[in-house]
Amino acid sequence: MRVIAAAATDVGRVREGNEDAFLVLDPLFVVADGMGGARGGEVASNLAVDTIRRLFERSEGSLTEQVEEANRTVFERSQQDREVSGMGTTLTAALVEGGRARLAHVGDSRAYLFRDGELHLVTEDHTLVRRMVQEGEISAEEAETHPHRNILTRVLGVDGAVVVDEGLLDLREGDRILLCTDGLSGMVGAGEIAAILSGTRDPQEAADRLVAAANRAGGVDNITAVILDVADGGTSGEPARPAHVTSRSPRSPADPPTTTPPVPAAPARPAPSPRRPADRSRVLRRTGLGAGVALAVIVVGVVALRLYLDAQWFVGVSDGRVAVFRGVPAEVAGLELHSVVVETTIPAEEAQSLALYRELPDGITADDREAADAIVEQIRRDVADAQATEP
Ligand code: MG
Repeated sequence: MRVIAAAATDVGRVREGNEDAFLVLDPLFVVADGMGGARGGEVASNLAVDTIRRLFERSEGSLTEQVEEANRTVFERSQQDREVSGMGTTLTAALVEGGRARLAHVGDSRAYLFRDGELHLVTEDHTLVRRMVQEGEISAEEAETHPHRNILTRVLGVDGAVVVDEGLLDLREGDRILLCTDGLSGMVGAGEIAAILSGTRDPQEAADRLVAAANRAGGVDNITAVILDVADGGTSGEPARPAHVTSRSPRSPADPPTTTPPVPAAPARPAPSPRRPADRSRVLRRTGLGAGVALAVIVVGVVALRLYLDAQWFVGVSDGRVAVFRGVPAEVAGLELHSVVVETTIPAEEAQSLALYRELPDGITADDREAADAIVEQIRRDVADAQATEP
């Protein structure tokens, strides 16, 4: 199967830097949209793409395993380097092999299949608004323009493990696959994307025109588009509608749930050994040395934990009210790993009566303070709406 690929990326008209990254390494194609501070976003998206490139060139692992390794690599870097702590990235990849495109996906970048003049979205956004649509709280149309549509529920690099959506597309000659970041899909409607893809034969020209359309619409975010044209050798007679990308968990049921934020392991304390009177001085000395080592481990652990916790945010419940917390919604050895930053006037009970916020006491994690505030505003509005519709 022959694929002709092209890509275009642009900083847009508002952002100072381009935190998107992409890879065109036929037959592997990737887009990634980084987040997390001035430097973090750029580091995260590029590190993820470079990791996948490196593993692909060495033929190491499946596409999904390569994405999982990229997740670990970004996560480890964010743990080591305070400047990029808390960074993460979306990632959508397509690997063309044997008449098919294998897809791997985390976040809100998208893969579309353009076939017979119709545009099919084949990935599912991992966003709060997508969840709200599934819960029936808002319509799909409202989601497209929702002010908090950029709040992600799944990101690569913010946890030690990630669930990667994967899928398989049977390809036909004439198919066109579009991989893009939300700087395109959030600015340009599906109708206009389809019109550009259908009216522009040359893939490079099509990618350039998509980017130009996003800039014309405001260009509020970085914009990236990768286009793959299936030239020949595709399978024929396959069903016209592609299968949706589905979730796959890399964990066994015994593993901790994905919703629990990672917490550096608490320093283990050696069990006291039984001592006899005759051994006392030796035991005491050894205990003294052991305590010194243990203290050093604790100090290093506490500093690392502090740095980590300072970069984490979530919305939870404090004193029966919705509140913004810094840290993670967990406790280790009786020690709470979070503190309240703002307590709102919203009664937690009212928020929890809405399906979307039932898990509020467990904490809804946010990428940063701004995202946490946005979630609170959303809760406030949803609670008010619910009250307004009550008889
Ligand atoms: Mg973006």
